[in-house]
Amino acid sequence: MQVEVLTANDLIKTAPVFGQLSFDDHEQVVFCNDKDTGLKAIIGIHNTVLGPALGGTRMWNYASEWEALNDALRLSRGMTYKSAITGLNLGGGKAVIIGDAKTQKTPELMRRFGQFVHSLSGKYITAEDIGMDTEDMDIVREVTPFVTGISESIGGAGNPSPITAFGVFMGMKAAAKYKYGTDDLEGKKVMVQGIGHVGEALVEHLTNEGAQVFISDINHERLDEVSRKYNATIYVGDIYSADVDIYAPCALGASVNDETINRIKASIIAGAANNQLADERTHGKILKDKGIVYAPDFLINAGGIINVYAELEGYDRKEIMRKTENIYNTTLEILKSAERKNITTHNAALQIAQQRIDDRKRENLN
Ligand code: NAD
Repeated sequence: MQVEVLTANDLIKTAPVFGQLSFDDHEQVVFCNDKDTGLKAIIGIHNTVLGPALGGTRMWNYASEWEALNDALRLSRGMTYKSAITGLNLGGGKAVIIGDAKTQKTPELMRRFGQFVHSLSGKYITAEDIGMDTEDMDIVREVTPFVTGISESIGGAGNPSPITAFGVFMGMKAAAKYKYGTDDLEGKKVMVQGIGHVGEALVEHLTNEGAQVFISDINHERLDEVSRKYNATIYVGDIYSADVDIYAPCALGASVNDETINRIKASIIAGAANNQLADERTHGKILKDKGIVYAPDFLINAGGIINVYAELEGYDRKEIMRKTENIYNTTLEILKSAERKNITTHNAALQIAQQRIDDRKRENLN
């Protein structure tokens, strides 16, 4: 029998939205268009059972609108599970603005985007993501209260990256406890890929713990700066086949893919990047079969969302740190549960998150 392979164009013809590869029972998808400011945005609202859909806005020069829609769908779904597993009363949403943040972002465009967010009456709450910063959220705040990640001077919780890094560090320690029987990272060789906002703060935690830190980045100035500051070793060569104990992806997503997965020598993968597994099913299974412990990204990088949630709930820094530290316990629990059930760690985390959503749905019906 001949199997017909559908191209992206075929899919568009047969199933414009509801049958998309990344469509996963999303509640609502909003297309925002404004000719005057040049705004073209898509807001993906995946699930609001646990609360309003919160997730950042990404501005990116997408190769096509199809790619932008796919990103909004994929990222908003990820937010649903991130908040659910972290125990936050938030749903999952994400927005993408099509365009180059360096040349096409204007205050008018951000204000217009904010008006679209406002039109959803709080069902979607935005924050910053790639291509956005606190100042942009401050502009959005001028036209809607449904925004987080604003400046501390106007009631925001400030930069989430150090909190994210602390959570990743906690998740990494839990993975070490599970794999090596101790969460002490002293002497462990750790490769940090991407030493931006989160990566650098992670390097600091690791250095303080006495780990042997290797760093890799495409930005050579940052490499020199971070290497000098923390006495970390700049790694030159193929980072995947490097002889290290832990690989921490802190750059872009999908770094664990068909090309890299069989070269990975590390026994633990724990990092900040979203969607680290190019294909969560296939690559999650390969890691499991190889005995590589994968700390699910959406679980251990939740420090940032815990930080912005504080803006909505009004809890303080101490509570933010307590909730983020708890990533250690949740990670350990997930890793053990994956072993018991003989499933991938990614699936174990998804199951627990889904269970929380299903339970709340039942409660809401009663
Ligand atoms: P960032 O832009 O500050 O840093 C990313 C770094 O990765 C940059 O230094 C960049 O030069 C480097 N990089 C890009 N491509 C690379 C490559 N191929 N190899 C090596 N280095 C490369 O971003 P960030 O805020 O530090 O976030 C890092 C990752 O964590 C992102 O994937 C982000 O989505 C995710 N994340 C961040 C937060 C947060 O609070 N900032 C929260 C959750 C998830």
